[in-house]
Amino acid sequence: MSYDLLLRNGRVVDGSGMSAFWGDVGIAEGKIVEVGKLRGSAQRVIDVQGQVIAPGFIDNHCHFDAQALWDPLCTFACYHGATTVINGNCSLGMAPSRPDDHYAVVSMLSRVEAIPLASIQAGVQDTWETIPEYLALLDRRLGVNVGALIGFSAVRRYVMGDAAYTEPATPQQIDQMKAIIREGISAGAIGLSFERNPTHHDLEGRLLPCNAASNDELIAVAATLAEVGAGTIQIGGNERNGVTVDLLTEIALASGRPVICRLGIEPSQERLDSYTQAMEQGARLIPMMPPFLEDPARWTINSVNNFDLYPTWRPVIASSPAEKKRAFGDPAMRDKLRAESLNYRWADTCVSIASLAKNQQLVGRSVAGIAQERGQEPLDAFLDLVVEEDLATVFMRDTGAHPEEKGAFLANRLVMPGLSDGGAHVTRRCDSHFSVHPLVLGPGAASPDPRASGSEADLRAGLRLRPARPRHDSPGTRGGPRRLRSSHGFAGRDRPRS
Ligand SMILES: [Zn+2]
Repeated sequence: MSYDLLLRNGRVVDGSGMSAFWGDVGIAEGKIVEVGKLRGSAQRVIDVQGQVIAPGFIDNHCHFDAQALWDPLCTFACYHGATTVINGNCSLGMAPSRPDDHYAVVSMLSRVEAIPLASIQAGVQDTWETIPEYLALLDRRLGVNVGALIGFSAVRRYVMGDAAYTEPATPQQIDQMKAIIREGISAGAIGLSFERNPTHHDLEGRLLPCNAASNDELIAVAATLAEVGAGTIQIGGNERNGVTVDLLTEIALASGRPVICRLGIEPSQERLDSYTQAMEQGARLIPMMPPFLEDPARWTINSVNNFDLYPTWRPVIASSPAEKKRAFGDPAMRDKLRAESLNYRWADTCVSIASLAKNQQLVGRSVAGIAQERGQEPLDAFLDLVVEEDLATVFMRDTGAHPEEKGAFLANRLVMPGLSDGGAHVTRRCDSHFSVHPLVLGPGAASPDPRASGSEADLRAGLRLRPARPRHDSPGTRGGPRRLRSSHGFAGRDRPRS
């Protein structure tokens, strides 16, 4: 056989789960035609000298729906070997949306996923209405492969208008939504996304429409996929928010399709066991889990939405820095903020970066621990520090996970690593490096410090994660910098453009 391109002497990891083997890969007319010890001739031969030859990673939970229109490569996912991104998660999406109503879907995406509104408005000039029209826009400028889920909040807004945020759908409205989903799937959308999350509001403070839908409505809508015999479903949210194993099972059985659900950054064996039991009943559940030991998100009081569940907090967090400082200094306001946040995770909320020299000893310590030492309530220790550092203190969450525990979940063939949230929370996180994380790549890939996912860590001979840094490349000058993580060691693209 003769090839256009022959890659010789590689360690082939074919993505099937089989161990790596030494071999060659033959390519003709843009497709892999043969893998093994190959003898044929080729127009071009590259000796890869023992490097890994593998399919690109699928970044399986992303929010590049708007970004893909101005940045078809969907940076920074592609810097970690992702050749496919899955968008349209958490019930969010750009379509369907009437041309004079794009703000409604953009407002949800911007607020929930912390993508600066200024960036979306500057970056997206196109207009569209239906899902097929939006998909055609993506096809106009090709970059990485995009798998587009249909975000149910966008569909509900389109059909129900302002009632979508609060009202149940009528049987006629459900029929209309199902027709839109059928049309979207036949145009190439790869499935549907739902969510249950009481903290997810749009810029106007309205809860996402998907949260106003009853379980019965979600099950009825999911059944559309059984009718078309295609698609997968991703569901955001956890047991606490109503995403019970019973609901997941009913959705999986009604749709007859795979349902990707959450195992979470703090996985529990009990939850995995309950998924396994549902699978034995015929529900095709795929639990997804971020492979990180610590939550890679970093946040300041100016970029956080962890407190959106609390009604007094929400407008304060959304206000200007000067207004925030005034509110935090007002004793009556503090009492209200304290009362609402008594159950917040102060014990695992830690200082990641302190801006003042005198506070460097607080780095790595929990807010609860600092408060105890000072004889304060956690809320007061937290706000005193935030105000003292002019709102610049960077916080993170320590999950307390151990490499062995987490590794055992990932080694389970039922569990899928992922949930990077690529394209979301761009000022404070960039987790597409899940694909090159030591726990995903397996034994022998351990970094010198397994907790070093926030710093430069050796991942495997040749693959290295660079430290995070800001990059000022968002469209719209008011969008602010994005948090950039990149890996190097991928052949053919040794370093990202900067
Ligand atoms: Zn999401």
